[in-house]
Amino acid sequence: MDLNEIWQSTLNEIELQISRPNFLTWFRNSRIIEKTDEGKIVISLSNTFAKEWVENKYHKLIFDSLKNFDESIKKIEYCVVSNDEKNIFNKEIKKTPSPKHQPDIPELKVDPETNLHPRYNLKSFVVGSSNELAYGAMSAVIKNVGKKYNPLFIYGGTGLGKTHLIQAAGNEIKNVYKNKIKVKYVTSEKFVNDVVWAIRNKRMEDTKAKYRDVDVLIIDDIHFIGGKERSEEEFFHTFNALYERNKQIIISSDRPPAAIPVLEERLRSRFEGGMIVDISYPDYEMRLAIIKNKLQEKNSQLPDNVCELIANKVQRNVREIEGIINKVLFYYEVKNIEPTIAMVEEIINNILQQSSKNITSAQIIKAVSDFFELTQPDLIGHSRKKEFIEPRQITSFLLRDLLRMSYPDIGEKLGKRDHTTAIYSCNKIAKEINKNQTLNRKIILIKEIIYKN
Ligand code: ADP
Ligand code: MG
Repeated sequence: MDLNEIWQSTLNEIELQISRPNFLTWFRNSRIIEKTDEGKIVISLSNTFAKEWVENKYHKLIFDSLKNFDESIKKIEYCVVSNDEKNIFNKEIKKTPSPKHQPDIPELKVDPETNLHPRYNLKSFVVGSSNELAYGAMSAVIKNVGKKYNPLFIYGGTGLGKTHLIQAAGNEIKNVYKNKIKVKYVTSEKFVNDVVWAIRNKRMEDTKAKYRDVDVLIIDDIHFIGGKERSEEEFFHTFNALYERNKQIIISSDRPPAAIPVLEERLRSRFEGGMIVDISYPDYEMRLAIIKNKLQEKNSQLPDNVCELIANKVQRNVREIEGIINKVLFYYEVKNIEPTIAMVEEIINNILQQSSKNITSAQIIKAVSDFFELTQPDLIGHSRKKEFIEPRQITSFLLRDLLRMSYPDIGEKLGKRDHTTAIYSCNKIAKEINKNQTLNRKIILIKEIIYKN
């Protein structure tokens, strides 16, 4: 048998033992490129992601299968062979340099003191008719911290840039005023958790101090706080303590104060005493500008007609626009598939359908266990084995991300765990997904499985 035949036979065996989507994803375009006299086999895979994955997950399977056909094999090495000749991609598109050619980029991390993420800045925030009021009010606040609009209350639908704008404002204030102004960002969910924790552990004084000892308090998604009495009470006092000392408060919500049903009247009237502005849906020009902006951030390009198509079709959510760009780039950069109009249209339709389709937690759990080839009892069970941990955390994250499930419910679904474990898992994955390409791609592939079924 020559090397080619050995590999074909090995692939036939492997194909029987793993799921079809996994087989196609990881082994497409793989081959043996060398066998040395010492019995070392070199297998090439189509990209670094596949290499890492195959090496970590299928090594033993490959080794055992190969040995069936050639007993002299002692060792396997994996490599990536660039597929220039296979690259059928449109010439006007430049490919991002592969990671090894990029200069070391310092890892972006949430600043522990402010809780702000450095990825959000005003420079990357595209301003247009849908958000210029909010942006204008925010600029005024940055120039006159605590003196102009207080509180500044920003509301709008999901994925329209509220978190981006208020975090960017926090970063800007920090940069402009250096250490003179102390900024703190918190989601209202985290605020509630802190209050609950403080009550349980009799540490209310510390928690009070933590939030009252700042010059700018930014609180995201305040609508979550409504109805949680003790937290609302605590927030009210924090609010007053800050307000009376002319400290700046910036708030975001998915709806105006009057529409948060269970919000206490006194808190509502406090909010209404400041400045309330909304962010609405971006128009076509703005959507196109956002697309160009995101591509630039990623150091990638797509043909104009593809950008225009996305801007045309995806109208209600900037996060969806980003999701589509990521997916198109993923197909191109990882799978080497040309983003034709037809293909991008299909991606868009899929993603737009997804947002309306009813996904169940059972589908998510099944997709994750299929992807990692674990049994469902292992995935949601209590074993602390290393290979179960990440899949389990990804499951928590997807239950949260796709179904907006509450943390206690996620804990319940995943083997009756405590809600703090669910919070930890979701936060961990949410943080890492931005800086860990491998994780990001795994999640894209799992989502594909979910939506395909
Ligand atoms: P929200 O908090 O309103 O749900 P986000 O601030 O999380 O929305 O925005 C969703 C995604 O869209 C983020 O990645 C953000 O960077 C991006 N985005 C939203 N609006 C803009 C904008 N005007 N310019 C650039 N990026 C934007
Ligand atoms: Mg947000």
